[in-house]
Amino acid sequence: MNYTDTIVAISTPVGLGAVGIVRLSGENALAIAREMFSSSKIKDEIIPNVLYLGTLSYNGLSDKALMVYFKAPKSFTGEDIVEFQCHGGRVILENALKGACALGARLATNGEFSRRAFLNGKMDLANVEGMADMINAESEVAQRLAYSQFKGKVSEEVSSLQEELENVIAYVEASFDYPEEDMPAMNVPEVVEVLNSQIKKVESLVSTFTLGNTLKNGVSVAIVGQPNVGKSSLLNAILGFDRAIVTDIAGTTRDVLTSSYIYKGLKINLSDTAGIRESTDVIEQIGVDLARKTVSSADIVLAVFDGNKPLTKDDLDLIKTLPKNRSFIAINKADLELNLDKSALGGIDVITISAKTGEGIEDLKEKIYSFANASNVLSTESAIISSERQILALKEALSSLKVALNSIEYLSADLLIIDIRRAWEKYGEITGTTASEHIVDTIFSKLCLGK
Ligand code: GDP
Repeated sequence: MNYTDTIVAISTPVGLGAVGIVRLSGENALAIAREMFSSSKIKDEIIPNVLYLGTLSYNGLSDKALMVYFKAPKSFTGEDIVEFQCHGGRVILENALKGACALGARLATNGEFSRRAFLNGKMDLANVEGMADMINAESEVAQRLAYSQFKGKVSEEVSSLQEELENVIAYVEASFDYPEEDMPAMNVPEVVEVLNSQIKKVESLVSTFTLGNTLKNGVSVAIVGQPNVGKSSLLNAILGFDRAIVTDIAGTTRDVLTSSYIYKGLKINLSDTAGIRESTDVIEQIGVDLARKTVSSADIVLAVFDGNKPLTKDDLDLIKTLPKNRSFIAINKADLELNLDKSALGGIDVITISAKTGEGIEDLKEKIYSFANASNVLSTESAIISSERQILALKEALSSLKVALNSIEYLSADLLIIDIRRAWEKYGEITGTTASEHIVDTIFSKLCLGK
């Protein structure tokens, strides 16, 4: 693939809109613009970063449009860029695209503008992933996280680790490359110190992934409880619309329903599970097994009980299985008489609600949020890893560092260097300095056309 020719794409979403943007990048962008766009304000030179109002024409079709030129290297891609801001009609935008192609541009592939930005050193891979996450963000919290990665929080951290390791590599290499030149033998304690400190830093980065995942994809809350306690009603009450089917026949929720809502900028994924009880109904049993899985992987387990009824043996069994550090209990049907013995709830945090009247629902939402935001983690300023790709590379770097550390006493420098270099390469995979063509292709192909 040639990444130096001139490319063109519609950068705004497909469909009708007030405005649609056609973007060109490459050395012929300006020449193409001169052919297609005319404005009384353009004398000889088209001045960079100035918005011109004029007429965009091709093949007898015209639009009154705006044009801006970003001169290389001060542009998103690092190449000459021209953007036409047209009226957002399909025919207009496609005509501009056709015109640009007739004048020598080619259609951009997915993410190609960003790929050029990467190839020209405008962004590293972690920045690009942050940018993609910003576009896909479903909550304010996810957006904040993505923006910090886009601005270089992860890159800074990883680059500094990589730089530090570069020094160690140079040092270890020197001790076996030039033995005859009186180079000092490798100072083992110094290398050990760096490796230990790197291991600590990488471990701490790796440990941010759970939080990163929560910030990006949301907090998962599994609603559990016996049939008919009001789980589906609660889900509906929290969401504010009827998502789950509510009936008074026990065992009607046979699969796991998941719905999301945003609270204070954080996405919460609620799963209404089938009541966890043994069942002879095959389909219901599948639902029960699925429910067990949902509970074990959830960030928070919300156990619901019918406050109007005494606790049953099944209820007491359920309480025993609740993971203590991430569960709380909602006593539902507060609009009815309380017949449940609260002292049997195993010391787990309790909130009283009525899915029917809405009592306590706001408090419950706040409780879920506070749980997710324990020690204000949601507003942390430190680097947080939220990408599967990055966490994998970090874990591999970590294991190579550990192998190096454990073998330092008995391996010769030339063997030791293999593991240290491997860790260094894994850091580079994150930012892109050592990423393979395959990794780069995968990242950019996931971006949309025109990005
Ligand atoms: P699930 O099987 O646990 O999902 O329970 P449902 O949500 O289907 O509710 C079972 C029955 O309890 C339905 O008849 C609901 O109308 C009723 N119900 C649910 N929540 C409340 C509540 O807060 N108060 C009262 N009085 N009835 C409720």
